[in-house]
Amino acid sequence: MVRANRQTPSLFGEEVEPPAEVTPAPPGLYAKVALNRPVPTEFTYDVPERFRERIAVGSRVAVFFGRRRQVGVVVALDERTDVARGKLKALSELLDDEPLVREELLDLTRWIAERYASSWGEALAAILPAALKRESQSKRVLVVRAATDVGKEQLQELEENFPKQHRLLRTLLDLEGRIELRDVLRNLNLSDSPARTLEKRGWVVIEKVAAEVDGLDSARPSERVRPEHLSPHQEAALGALEGALQDGEYRGFLLEGVTGSGKTEVYLRCIETALAQGKSAIVLVPEISLTPQTVGWFRSRFGEVAVLHSRMTDAQRLVMWMRLQKGEVRVVVGARSAIFAPLSELGVVVVDEEHEPSFKQGSVPRYHARDVALERCRRSKAVCILGSATPSLESWHAAASGELTTLSLPERVGGGTFPSMHVVDMRLERERGKGPPLFSRLLRTFLKETVADGEQAIFFVNRRGFIPVLWCRGCEETIRCDQCSMAMTFHKRIAKLVCHGCCEERAVPAACPACTRPGLTFLGFGSEGVERTLRETWPELRVRRMDSDTMRRREDYEEALSAFGRGEIDVLVGTQMIAKGLDFPRVTLVGILAPDQSLSLPDFRASERTFQLIAQVAGRAGRASLPGRIVIQTSVPDHPTLKLAAKGDFRAFAEHELRDRFALGYPPATRLVRILLEGPDEKLVQATGAELHERLVAALRTTTLELRGPEVAPISLLRKRFRYEIIVVSPPDDPGLPHAVATARDFAAKQNRVRVGVDVDPMSLL
Ligand code: ADP
Ligand code: ZN
Repeated sequence: MVRANRQTPSLFGEEVEPPAEVTPAPPGLYAKVALNRPVPTEFTYDVPERFRERIAVGSRVAVFFGRRRQVGVVVALDERTDVARGKLKALSELLDDEPLVREELLDLTRWIAERYASSWGEALAAILPAALKRESQSKRVLVVRAATDVGKEQLQELEENFPKQHRLLRTLLDLEGRIELRDVLRNLNLSDSPARTLEKRGWVVIEKVAAEVDGLDSARPSERVRPEHLSPHQEAALGALEGALQDGEYRGFLLEGVTGSGKTEVYLRCIETALAQGKSAIVLVPEISLTPQTVGWFRSRFGEVAVLHSRMTDAQRLVMWMRLQKGEVRVVVGARSAIFAPLSELGVVVVDEEHEPSFKQGSVPRYHARDVALERCRRSKAVCILGSATPSLESWHAAASGELTTLSLPERVGGGTFPSMHVVDMRLERERGKGPPLFSRLLRTFLKETVADGEQAIFFVNRRGFIPVLWCRGCEETIRCDQCSMAMTFHKRIAKLVCHGCCEERAVPAACPACTRPGLTFLGFGSEGVERTLRETWPELRVRRMDSDTMRRREDYEEALSAFGRGEIDVLVGTQMIAKGLDFPRVTLVGILAPDQSLSLPDFRASERTFQLIAQVAGRAGRASLPGRIVIQTSVPDHPTLKLAAKGDFRAFAEHELRDRFALGYPPATRLVRILLEGPDEKLVQATGAELHERLVAALRTTTLELRGPEVAPISLLRKRFRYEIIVVSPPDDPGLPHAVATARDFAAKQNRVRVGVDVDPMSLL
């Protein structure tokens, strides 16, 4: 294989030096192929006679790269090549009769590669995962369950010497059923070797089964009436959107409205209009709100709606892809990656809850689906609607500066009232000789009243586990994981300390491992602790916990929500997971137990995230005719974010926060690139960081970009890897920024002992 020779100037890779004596291959047909490899270039192959009729730009092909056969996408065809005759290989197979990736998406993936520092092939892989990675499609998935006669005895046997097998078997025994193998391994941060060992011992059963029809695919149209009249605010918003659709030009809108203000109804109407014009639509929602109910709303209005989400099998994705490509389905609802749906004549893209961090992909290419949505709409002359009750400050600022048009829905439709807010100062709740209790007197009183009236409550906690910190009075240290620089959390049910960074477990030490002083103190609380205290204090309460320990499968999540909806649960305790979700008319009390923890995170978005979480959880209460009450328990009641959140005053918060961001040089005043260097050898990580820093300085001499670091990252050790970071701070439109990104990416592609990750517009600096 040979590096492609580029015709267009590009930020990709460095130019290839011509070999000393070149005998260019004779005229013929040559394909440039983008492969899913972290090398920022494409590769040229000879197209054999038998494929010449059918091959096209956008077709998938199989090629040999080294000794391995890989699937890639043809991104250019040329009759000539400068590549030397002897170095060319021929394409092995042409996999599509018609090009699978059309020009629009090819261009968009190229943009993604440049903006988010990946190779073109990696960006293509993000939109066609399975099809690009393999030649054949499998309709089967691996599922795993505990064998029938396995139990405590086997667990005990594993506990001492085989902690990984123990963790897996324990989890499977808890699940009482099967789970997709890759899901449980990912959850527990395990390779598949413990699973295979357990299988050999006959303790777990791994089977290949036909991929189940997903719950969402069978989602029925749910009875959502089409209101006869829109409210005046809805009317005004829809009018603006329809006007833009009529013009057939790109327009971006920020639709600001609290939960229940009728945003979804506006989306639905706007899509109706687009469809009537013969156009198509994409609706992006956070993965977790992609419930059968949401999907049902769209199905009841538009008949056939394609659903795209991360749990689909590769084969299901490909089938859906082809149907969209052929125009058989015109509306797509999905999580992040649905922004790449191959629809033609795109009319409108909705990004609901646009502020959600989950729209940012955590692995390469680290794209932000909202920003990709805006770019795709710009290229397709479509209308983009960003909807939220608490817009991201990026979007808020874009609206203020005229890049987006703001539309507001300031009131709840259908008469729902706003809940009353109560901020409780937990410093005043301490009992003599003890720390603050879990529940304030006010919250206890409200809970009793709520349950007595046959209504429901939601308690929100930031962390999972029983107690997040085990602290030594002697050396004032917390117990940390050996592999990660993170405090370990005590999980009472399994009576162990768990690291939330790497999932490793260990026994609770009797004395401080550092200073050997006995008497470690437990500090703080997590969701498991709240659940247990509720059960102990009020045994008659029906309590259910929702966090990633109890909700390992999507079915568990849906089952818990529907039990809650049927009134079989009095109090739902949970983490982030419960902040979003369905409309529960009988929820009248929301307890927000420790917003302080998220406020104090060392991240410039800490206040924004806390405000959003409070607004979102608060939005769960009093959605129907019953009035809701929100209790915020804090030891910093005067914190401006909490005060504004308690007032529900997003605008004031946004102004306050923007002033801070501009003063400190954080987005949206600037754009950031975070370069994370990780490796087992700290010296080498440091030296690599210094080398990259030098390269960047040289590349950016003439720009106004600022470099911070290399310095130790906030999580300095994770899974036995030392972490350093460099942060590039750039004015928003600085032409030097793409240059910095390309420099870092090319540098990253050449490292092998230090992993260099380039995150453009990072959502978190932790
Ligand atoms: P949001 O998306 O902002 O949370 P929805 O569009 O889901 O709000 O509307 C909230 C509730 O109000 C829904 O039950 C919806 O059916 C209802 N609704 C929306 N618009 C109207 C309207 N114009 N007249 C009556 N009910 C409406
Ligand atoms: Zn760890």
